[in-house]
Amino acid sequence: MSIKEKNEEGWFGEFGGCYSPEVLIPALNELSLAYKKLKDSPEFKKNLQSLLKSYTGRPSLLSFSSNLSKLWGAKIYLKREDLNHTGSHKITNAIGQALIARFLGKKRLIAETGAGQHGVATATVAAHLGFECEIFMGTEDIRRQKLNCFRIELLGAKLHPVSSGTKTLKDATNEAMRDWSKRVEDTHYLIGSVIGPHPFPTIVRDFQSVIGIEARQQMQDQFACLPDAVIACVGGGSNAIGIFSGFLKDKQVGLFGIEAGGRSAKLGDNSASISFGKVGYFHGTRSLYIQRKAGQINEVHSISAGLDYPGVGPEHAYLASTGRAQYKWISDELALEAFQEVAKYDGIIVALESAHAFAYARELAREIGKKATILICVSGRGDKDVAEVARLCDYNIHK
Ligand SMILES: *Cc1c(COP(=O)(O)O)cnc(C)c1O
Repeated sequence: MSIKEKNEEGWFGEFGGCYSPEVLIPALNELSLAYKKLKDSPEFKKNLQSLLKSYTGRPSLLSFSSNLSKLWGAKIYLKREDLNHTGSHKITNAIGQALIARFLGKKRLIAETGAGQHGVATATVAAHLGFECEIFMGTEDIRRQKLNCFRIELLGAKLHPVSSGTKTLKDATNEAMRDWSKRVEDTHYLIGSVIGPHPFPTIVRDFQSVIGIEARQQMQDQFACLPDAVIACVGGGSNAIGIFSGFLKDKQVGLFGIEAGGRSAKLGDNSASISFGKVGYFHGTRSLYIQRKAGQINEVHSISAGLDYPGVGPEHAYLASTGRAQYKWISDELALEAFQEVAKYDGIIVALESAHAFAYARELAREIGKKATILICVSGRGDKDVAEVARLCDYNIHK
């Protein structure tokens, strides 16, 4: 591959591209063309903004946390994506892509889901905008996330259990891609993060960039400053790239992506693809993946189902390679501790995914001290995690 090609659309340095099965190329091309047209269309922008405002409640709050600031010793600010309808940042991308699908005349939305958050977001948008909907989910995740499965069905979507491979997110993604290749005429595959073949990483980034655009403006309007550090958890990387993109040009703002360190640094014990992965090709894009010596994708682990993916979006691999953003990992144990601390001292039950960002903020606050300002992206609320945390902490509800 030549350097020239790497500067083309869909490339982030040496990462990205479109390594897709032949059958999907027409659909991906159709999507690229449609998105190019719609991106700058005043009518599309108006529709999107109106739905984000009236249906999901944007702009999301940005607030100063005096309790956590006191506790951790730096000024802590929170971007509250947990307050969006359905409880996370995922709904924003789901609405954006559903509008593209409508423009393309598609009648059916399909999506993969791990913890079920993206499945719920997609089923929600399908119900609101009148699409048929089918959600692919590994049977292991179905077992762990019963409540979200019920939600998906309540919302009128069909749940499609996937029992191949490890029966988790990557297998659900495989199956969704397979379904799409059979029904590209009437179906849009609504990918939930900045992963997959071009144009998905760009489209999802653009929709989620509203987080960073709002946050930068809110910091200036409400607090007359920019943060010294912006911290977000990284699964596929959509909430992180969303908030980062508002600050990329502000070189004085440090960007920190926090991966799931799981139980240990050993292969299979974590899902920190930037910290421990290698360059490879998977789900249609060149990026960093947790893999064995011969290149097969390995099983991964995280306490939070939303971070439990063996790869990362290509733009993060690029930002790591240039050093513009730094990537750290936080263990299950520290994430769990932060989850409880934030609930107890600030009255916010955050998602276990987001708790990784809080745990790192606590470390960084101690390092950089009182005068520093830290902005944390609260990617979602933690109601979905409460039962699992109760189990892990051996909490007896009858005591
Ligand atoms: C899905 C999810 C994530 C991880 O996805 P990204 O694409 O990395 O943002 C993080 N937090 C919450 C609450 C999620 O639902």
